[in-house]
Amino acid sequence: MPREGRPRIASLLRNRARQPSNPDCYLDYAHQEKYSRQTLFAPIGPEGQQRLLASSAVIVGCGAIGAAASALLVRAGLGRLCVLDRDFVEPSNLQRQMLFDEADARDALPKAVAAQRKLRAMNSSVSVEGIVADLDSRNAEELLTGFDLILDGTDNFETRFLVNDFAISSGKPWIYAAAVASYGLTMVIQPGLTPCLACLLESEVGRGLEETCDTVGVLGPIVNLIASLEVAEALKLLTGREAALHGRLISCDVWTGRFQSIRVPRNPACRACVRRDFTWLAGEAQPHVTLCGRDSVQIHERARALDLAALRSRLAPTISDLRSNDFLLRFRVAPYEVTVFADGRAVFKGTTDPAVARSLYARYIGS
Ligand SMILES: [Zn+2]
Repeated sequence: MPREGRPRIASLLRNRARQPSNPDCYLDYAHQEKYSRQTLFAPIGPEGQQRLLASSAVIVGCGAIGAAASALLVRAGLGRLCVLDRDFVEPSNLQRQMLFDEADARDALPKAVAAQRKLRAMNSSVSVEGIVADLDSRNAEELLTGFDLILDGTDNFETRFLVNDFAISSGKPWIYAAAVASYGLTMVIQPGLTPCLACLLESEVGRGLEETCDTVGVLGPIVNLIASLEVAEALKLLTGREAALHGRLISCDVWTGRFQSIRVPRNPACRACVRRDFTWLAGEAQPHVTLCGRDSVQIHERARALDLAALRSRLAPTISDLRSNDFLLRFRVAPYEVTVFADGRAVFKGTTDPAVARSLYARYIGS
């Protein structure tokens, strides 16, 4: 036996000897090494880690908060993570979206695809799946069912209310997280135990929502701080340490240094968690045309997928500035830039008028 092999085996045997007697708590040697600093943290311990390894979560939206939250969760070692995102990487994302780099932006990779690649490289023990999709009432059941926890990484309240409706109706916990400028918020929602997002926000919908990161900007430190707070609560839920949840709405502003923790009351007449009226999940409240808030409109009118290669050959004779990768096709029709996804969605940059976008869609993409 080579000499250098001996200490490693000795340490393996020592670690085996330290295994707890409960076989359900058994962590193999590789997992002991990988997660040692987390299992040394007494409130988690080997038993909490074991539960985490058997857990699953889905992150809705992989912008700045979603990117940071997914990286923290994958490094912490959950069993399975699904990342849903409808967008592609752009140069303006890189200032705060920690998973992506210049090559991703240059190739206009969908965020779900780039995220899957990066996350798998971080921790090969975790089953990671990136799905390019726009979550809406038609696909919510299919995309969100089967996970222990849903995490908010979205940039809009329509999707958050849809996730809230799904979570309350299916009895699954989810974590609300949002940030804009230097300010952010996060709260855990446990159906039947805590107030929900509708309790907190529904009366205020429409007020202040015009402020998005596309209009007032957003700082890297706040999104990463909010993602950290979100994942700390996720770890409590996924390791079976619900008793440690603080149960409060946390808000922070990294510019003024103001931090607040508020106990949110349940609305006794709440549409979602009291009256169980799931308007957003039923598709009665969600518009089919989404204003993305950055001088662009998204159209998603087709129910079926699109053959991007066929569309490319159809457009090539008339449009010179045509670029594509395996996931999307992009072209310019001055003054607009059109990005078409394989699921049939298209984003029109250069207009906020849905009528203009619809007419361009009909003309270049078709029904
Ligand atoms: Zn409620």
